[in-house]
Amino acid sequence: MRQKLVAGNWKSNGNSQFVEQLLGALKAHSDQVPSEVEVAVCPPLVYLAKAEELLRGTAFLLGAQNVSAFEEGAYTGEVTASMLKDVGCQLVIVGHSERRSLLSEAEAQFADKIRLVLQAGLQPVYCVGETLEQRRRGEALKVCREQLLAGVAAVTPEDASRLVVAYEPVWAIGTGETASPEQVQEVHACLRQVLRERFGEQADLIKILYGGSVKAANARELFALPDVDGGLIGGASLVAEEFLAICKAGINA
Ligand code: PEP
Repeated sequence: MRQKLVAGNWKSNGNSQFVEQLLGALKAHSDQVPSEVEVAVCPPLVYLAKAEELLRGTAFLLGAQNVSAFEEGAYTGEVTASMLKDVGCQLVIVGHSERRSLLSEAEAQFADKIRLVLQAGLQPVYCVGETLEQRRRGEALKVCREQLLAGVAAVTPEDASRLVVAYEPVWAIGTGETASPEQVQEVHACLRQVLRERFGEQADLIKILYGGSVKAANARELFALPDVDGGLIGGASLVAEEFLAICKAGINA
C-alpha cells in the first residue's frame, strides 16, 4: 500500500517571520499529523536553508518549488538539483502549471529536470493537468497522458518508484473550484495506466497526488479515492490549522 503524501506549495508567499511562524505552528502541533502520512513543505527557495534548520529532527520533509534543467556551470540565477539536496531538500516540484503558463517554462525541460532531480537522490513531484478549454474539448486525459510521458521520458524503471506525480487541473488551482471525485479518479486511473505501460509493476509504487483547491472540507473524500495518494496543497498550506487538518485527512482515507 502506498503511503499518503501531503505537500504544501507556499509559492511566492511569506518572509522570514512568516517561515518561522508557520513552521513553528506546524512543529508545535506535529502530534496531530498521523505517523502514516508523509508531510512536506515547499517554501520559497531563499528560505529553504532556514526551513531546514527549523525542521531538523522532525518528520516534516522539505521540498523546493523548482530546479534548474542544467546539472552545473555557467547558468546565471539557476539553482541545481545537487544544491537543493545539499541544503536538505528531499522533494522538488517540477512543471507546475504556473511555471508552464506564467513563466513560459518549456515542456522540453521537464524530462531533464526530473532526470537530474532523481540523479541527485531527490524525489520529483511532477505536475500535469489540463486547462478548462482542453477539458471542455474532451482532451483532459490526452493532455495529461502526453504531459506525463514527456516528463518521464528519461526515468529508468529502477528510479520510477521515487517519482511522484501530481494531477493539477489548471482550472482548479487557486480558483476555489475543485475537480469532482469522479473527474479526479478518472484522470488518476488513466495516469496509473500510463505509468504501468511505461514502468510495469513499479507503477503501483508511484504516488499520484491531487492538487487544486484542496481544503480540510474536501480532502478526506479526495484522498479516499483508489488512485489518489495525497495532495499538493497551495493556498491552504499557508494556514497551519487548515494544513494540519488536511494532513489528518490522509489517515485511513
Ligand atoms: C497548487 O498551486 O499546486 C495548488 C494546488 O494550489 P491551490 O491549492 O491553492 O489550488
